Amino acid sequence: MSRVHTSCAYCGVGCGITVDDAKTLAGDTEHPANGGALCVKGGSLMETLAFPNRLLYPRLHGQQVSWDTALDEMAAQFGRIIAETGPESVAFYVSGQLLTEDYYIANKLMKGFIGAANIDTNSRLCMSSAVMAHSRAFGEDVVPGCYDDLEITDLLVITGANTAWTHPVIFRRIQQARARRPEMKMVVIDPRKTMTAEQADLHLALRPGSDVWLFNGLSRYLLDHDLIDNAYIEEHVNGFSELHAQLMTPDYELANVAQKCGLSVSELQTFYRWFGENEKAVTLFCQGINQSNQGTDKGNALINTHLLTGRVGKPGASPFSMTGQPNAMGGREVGGLATQLASHMTFSDENCDRVARFWNAPNIARKPGLKAVDMFEAVRSGKIRALWVVATNPAVSLPDSVMVREALAKCEFLVVSEMTPKTDTAQFADLLLPAAGWGERGGTVTNSERCITRQRAFTNAPGEAKPDWWAMAELGKRLGFADAFNYNDTVDIFREHAALSGFENSSRQFDISALATLTDDEYEQFTPRQWPLPAGKNAASQRLFGDGCFSTPNGKANLLTVVPQEPVLKRKAERQEGSWLLNTGRLRDQWHTMTRTGHLPRLMETEPLPKVYVNQHTLQASGFSEGALIRINSLQGSVMTLLGRDDGLRDGEAFMPMHWSDDFSSCSGVNRLVAPVVDAVSGQPQFKQTEVMAEAV
Ligand code: SF4
Repeated sequence: MSRVHTSCAYCGVGCGITVDDAKTLAGDTEHPANGGALCVKGGSLMETLAFPNRLLYPRLHGQQVSWDTALDEMAAQFGRIIAETGPESVAFYVSGQLLTEDYYIANKLMKGFIGAANIDTNSRLCMSSAVMAHSRAFGEDVVPGCYDDLEITDLLVITGANTAWTHPVIFRRIQQARARRPEMKMVVIDPRKTMTAEQADLHLALRPGSDVWLFNGLSRYLLDHDLIDNAYIEEHVNGFSELHAQLMTPDYELANVAQKCGLSVSELQTFYRWFGENEKAVTLFCQGINQSNQGTDKGNALINTHLLTGRVGKPGASPFSMTGQPNAMGGREVGGLATQLASHMTFSDENCDRVARFWNAPNIARKPGLKAVDMFEAVRSGKIRALWVVATNPAVSLPDSVMVREALAKCEFLVVSEMTPKTDTAQFADLLLPAAGWGERGGTVTNSERCITRQRAFTNAPGEAKPDWWAMAELGKRLGFADAFNYNDTVDIFREHAALSGFENSSRQFDISALATLTDDEYEQFTPRQWPLPAGKNAASQRLFGDGCFSTPNGKANLLTVVPQEPVLKRKAERQEGSWLLNTGRLRDQWHTMTRTGHLPRLMETEPLPKVYVNQHTLQASGFSEGALIRINSLQGSVMTLLGRDDGLRDGEAFMPMHWSDDFSSCSGVNRLVAPVVDAVSGQPQFKQTEVMAEAV
C-alpha cells in the first residue's frame, strides 16, 4: 500500500502525517517534529475533508461565474483602482494557512509588480512581536534553537503559552523528556493556572502585563550574583553598559520587582536562582508575550537574559519562539508581512534594488506597507479601495471586529478566497473564489524549528476549487505581467524562492539556495529539512548563532534596554468597580474561527457553547450564577455568552476563547470587545487585556 507523506494543517509544531490508499491518516513516524504522534485536532483532519458548504465555483455578486470571468473582473477592478488612486489603494490580507509557494507569489505580485507593500498576514496577530524582537537582538528574524533543545535542557521556562493545549505534540515531547529525566525543571509563567502550569515545578501567576519587570528583574539578579558570561558579552554582545546602567537602580531590586509582578520575593528568587544555576536553560514563548502593547519589548527583555548568559543557539540553551500557524514561518521567509521585503530582507535601498533585479520587477515597493490593524482602518476610511482576503476570517479574528465588519462592508471591491462561503468575512465579498484546501493542494511549509516539509495532495479538489498560487499568478498575468507569473507548478515557484534566498546573500542566515536546483522529482520526494541550506556550503542547521556570530552589521547581538509599560486599557475613566480584566486564547480542540473544527462533533463536545470564565471568588462577587447567560461589555462592543468557572484564574480576571464567530453563535465573537491597541514596534494587537463589565441579559 502506498503512503503520501504530508503535514498537519493546524499549528506551528508542523507534525508529519501519512495518508494511505484507503485514506487512512496516521502520524508520520519518520517526521522529526512528531515521530508519529498527533493531537486530537491533527488526528481528525481526514474527517474535515468533506466539511459542509464547500465553495465549488467562483461567485460574482452572488452569481456563479467562470474562473475567466472572475479573474477578468478582478483584474479590471484592481487595475482601474490602481490607475485612479495608485498602488497603495489596493491590498492583500493573507494567512499562515497559505503554503510558502502561495505566499511567495502574493508577495512578489504586490511588492514587485503592483508596487506597494500592502500585503499583510494574519501571522501579524500571532508572532510579529517575536519577529521584531529577533530582528532587534540578532539582526535577523531567526529562531536559534530547535525542538530537541526542549528535551535536553535542564530548565524549561514556558512563558505566555499554554503549550499543553496549543502545541500538544511538543508538550507531549516535553512530558516524555521529563519522565526520562525527572531532574529537568519546568517553570511556567502565566497569570492563569492552565493545564501547562498545573504540571510545572514552579508556576508564576504574574500580574498581567508585568513581563518586562520580571525579565529585567532576572537580568538584574544575574548581574548582582555574577551569573553572567563576561567573556561572551565582551566578544559577542552590544549594549551591555546601557543595560547595566538601566538595571542597577532601586527599581529593579527584588522586592520592587516582586511587587510590580504581583509575586512573592521567594517565588522570584526561586525562578531567578534556577535560571542562574542552569547553564542549559530554554525560554519558550508565545502569544502571552507577543499579543501585547509591548510584545516586542517583552521578547527582547527575555532574550536579554539569554545573551547575558551566552545561552543562544547552544544545545539545550536558547530563547525559543513557537509560531501559532502551520506556515507562519514560511510566510516570514518570503515576505508575507508588510514590514519585510522577501527572504528576510528589510526595505533598504540596497535590498529593494537587489530584489527588483532578481524579479526583473518594474515597480518595486520601497517602504513597508500597512500592518493588519492599520490596513483595515484604511479600508474603512476608503484609502484602500480593493482588498483580497485569502484563507482567513478577519471579521472574527481581528480586534475591534465590529469596525472590521464595517470596513468589509464599505470596501469598494472585496475578493475573498475561501473553501466555504459561510465564513463571517465571506458574507461581505463581491467576488468569492473557491480555494483548494489541505489534501487537495501541494507545496511546502516551515515549522517553528525552521524545518521545511512538503504538503502533498492526495485527493482532487471539488468543483472548480483551485490552489491560491494559481489564482494569484493569473491575476498577475491579467495585470500585464505575464512573463513574471508564468509558472507551471509549485516546484517552479519553490526553485525561484530558493534562488532568491541565496542571491547576493553574504550575511543573512535564511539561505536555502542549495534547493534552487531541485529537479521536479527531487521536489516530489523532498524529505523534511531545516534551513539554512546554502548552496555549496556545509551549514550546521539544527541551531544558529551558537558561535556567537550574528546577522548584525558588526556581527554582535544587541541587548535592548526596555522600559516596562502598563497595558493600554480603553476605559471611560478609572477602572470601574466590579469590572474584569479579560484575557483571550485558544481551546485545545478548536482551531482559529472554527471553520474546519467546528463541524466535528467529537471536537465540539468538550466545549459546545461560548463561555467566559472567572474564578469562584469573582463569580460570587458578580452576583451571577455559574452557567448564567450574560452580556459582557467593553468600550468597543458587547458579546453574549455563558458564564463558566475556572479557579485557575486570578481574582477579577476572566478568560474567553477566541474561536467563536457569528456563524456558530450570534454575537459571541470575543474580538467585538477587544480594542485595536497594538505594539508600537510590531503592530501586533494586545489581545490579552481588555476591561469588561458583565450584565444580565
Ligand atoms: Fe497538528 Fe499541531 Fe496537533 Fe501536531 S500538534 S497534530 S501540528 S495541531
